[in-house]
Amino acid sequence: AGEVTADSVDSLAVHFPLCMRHLHTSLLKDHHLRHGGRMQLGLFLKGIGLGLPEALVYWRRAFSNLTDDQFQKGYAYNIRHNYGQEGRRVNYTPYSCNRIITTNPPGPGDHHGCPFRHFASDRLNAALRQDGLGEAEATEVVELARNGHYQVACTRHMEINLRKRRTEPAEELRVDTVVSPNQWFDLSVGNGK
Ligand code: SF4
Repeated sequence: AGEVTADSVDSLAVHFPLCMRHLHTSLLKDHHLRHGGRMQLGLFLKGIGLGLPEALVYWRRAFSNLTDDQFQKGYAYNIRHNYGQEGRRVNYTPYSCNRIITTNPPGPGDHHGCPFRHFASDRLNAALRQDGLGEAEATEVVELARNGHYQVACTRHMEINLRKRRTEPAEELRVDTVVSPNQWFDLSVGNGK
């Protein structure tokens, strides 16, 4: 895989798990994300190979309602911070599913979190149908989530997606239960488009 650039992020969104897809769509729609969303999506993008200079370009463009000055003062520091270039210079790593599911639940106006954990069933169903799942498939995944099997539900979503992409006769595809959004991305990219 080549390096991820500000220009290539949007075309890779097809390989994002539902949590990151929701953040990315919200960012494009609102030209803004609140702090929890910027952290969750920002560190994920870092993890898929978006380097600091390209990250600054990407986020500057995405926050198109801000002046350069507002962006520099309000947001650029945080992005550099995520890349270990400010403050204590910790090189932060992307969040795991467990962390996203169990800490810092989203409030009104927030888009971070795990849809399998934090969306109501009908909203999750609509998001899955919008992603091309059939009625029975969506119902199966929502049921898993409703019973508290969030990562299993997410993995099932991945299996259904991958099976649809395959052109060879598809024997039932099984992948290990997803533990991080970055693992989801790697599995999706590795299984072609
Ligand atoms: Fe994202 Fe993990 Fe939730 Fe899937 S299970 S939507 S990868 S946080």
